[in-house]
Formats: sequence, structure tokens, C-alpha cells
Amino acid sequence: MDDFQLLIDLHRTAERQGPGGGAETKRAMELAGLDRSHPLKIADIGCGTGASTILLAKELDAEITAVDFLSEFLDELQARASKHGVADRITVLNCSMDALPFDEGAFDVIWSEGAVYNMGFEAGISAWSRFLRPGGKLIVSEITWLSAKRPEALQSHWQAEYPEIDVASTKIGLLERHGYSPQGYFVLPEHCWLENYYRPMQSRFDVFLERHGQIDQAKAVVEVERHEIALYEKYRNYYSYGVYVAKKM
Ligand code: SAH
Repeated sequence: MDDFQLLIDLHRTAERQGPGGGAETKRAMELAGLDRSHPLKIADIGCGTGASTILLAKELDAEITAVDFLSEFLDELQARASKHGVADRITVLNCSMDALPFDEGAFDVIWSEGAVYNMGFEAGISAWSRFLRPGGKLIVSEITWLSAKRPEALQSHWQAEYPEIDVASTKIGLLERHGYSPQGYFVLPEHCWLENYYRPMQSRFDVFLERHGQIDQAKAVVEVERHEIALYEKYRNYYSYGVYVAKKM
């Protein structure tokens, strides 16, 4: 099994594959003014195993296209959607987020939690705009600095991992520059990282290592995650995910 398969195996059974929460997804829905009063076409890009997809399907009158480049996650999403009785409202699409086959103006809403960094925030928001109808809403969460200054060690870690990490004012400026009108922004609270994402992941480490015979490769995968968790625990005041809500002009 290569490193990538190991990573999939560690994350496939998780409720979510990044920081987030049900209450926060609902808060973003409210900020975007989404409710059951109109039928909606939604694309959930980088959906993982569908934490947000399934909640959107339950809360709204929506037809949702759930996009991810990992079929293992999409299989899990479909199983969960069936359990929640919303499978008929969700279509999965196994595709890369930088090569989406959608028609221009096909969606009322583009939703993406913890995923746009894979193609880069600016590349993502600019490329996806054409799939939204005018007046359509973009809801995207993105790793964000919470202050203008931060410790050097943290800065250099993220500079290497994701140089596009920046303050909210920069991200909002990018949305404006790419033809969106910003409608709202909030910061994911700590429980979205700790209770909802890191603690459940930590509780899977031992079983994961056993399942893979304690091989060094599996240990290395766990080590990377442990390092990321320790970094968050130490520097959580300086970064989080920002949730950005914007309207296509
Ligand atoms: N939205 C989910 C998953 C976030 S993790 C949640 O909040 O739980 C990021 C997701 O993006 C993963 O499921 C990963 O498989 C997917 N992904 C990464 N690169 C991608 C790409 N190029 N195209 C489509 N999906 C991608």
C-alpha cells in the first residue's frame, strides 16, 4: 500500500476529513440566505465522505452534485446518504476540482469545506465562478491567519505547506476582485478542529497502526498527523478556517 492509500484508509471511516461542524454549516447556510423556500442546485466540491453534503440535503430543497477525486470517499458518502434517507437527492461525481465538466451557470450554490486549498483559493474561486448563475452563492472555507502577526515557526511551517494562507481581508479582497460580493465571514471555533476532527482521528491511530502491522510507512503517516495536531494545539490563536460567503455579481 502506498502512502496515499494509507492516508485514504486513515480518513475514510471518519465523519469528516477536515475541521468543520454541523452548526457551522448551518450558520453558513443562514449567512447565504439559503432556506427551503426555493429548490436549489448545489455543487459540493471536495465533499469527502459528505458531512456537509448530507446536512445540506436534509436542510434544503436541493439537488446536490457531490464532487471528490477519491472514489473511496464517494462510496462512503453514498452509503451514508442512504442511511439518512437523502440518497435520491445526491449525485456523486468522481472528478478533479480543477477540471469540472459543468455548464456555465448550472448552479445556484457552490459549497466547499476545507478543500479549495487543493487547487489554491484564488484559482478555485475564479474557476468555479462560471458554474454559478448570476446572484448564485459561493460558500467556501479556507485556512486563514487570525491576526496580522504570528510566530516565525508557524509562519514558516505554513509558508512551506500552503503559501496562499493569508488574513481574511486578503481572501475577501480576492473574492471582490473575481466578481463576487462578500456577504459574510466567520471563523471556525476550536471544537471544529479538536472535538470534530483531531480527537476522532487520534482515536483511530492505534487501530490503524495495528491494521497495517505497525509498518514504518503507517507510522510515518500518523507522525505527520500528530505533528499537525501539536502545531494546532500550540498555535490555535493564530489560525483557523475562515468560512467565506459571497454572491456572484
Ligand atoms: N469537505 C469534506 C472534506 C474535506 S478534506 C469535509 O469537510 O469533511 C478535502 C477533500 O478534497 C478530500 O475529500 C479530498 O479527497 C478532496 N480533494 C483533494 N484534492 C482534490 C481534487 N484535486 N479534486 C477533487 N477533490 C479533491
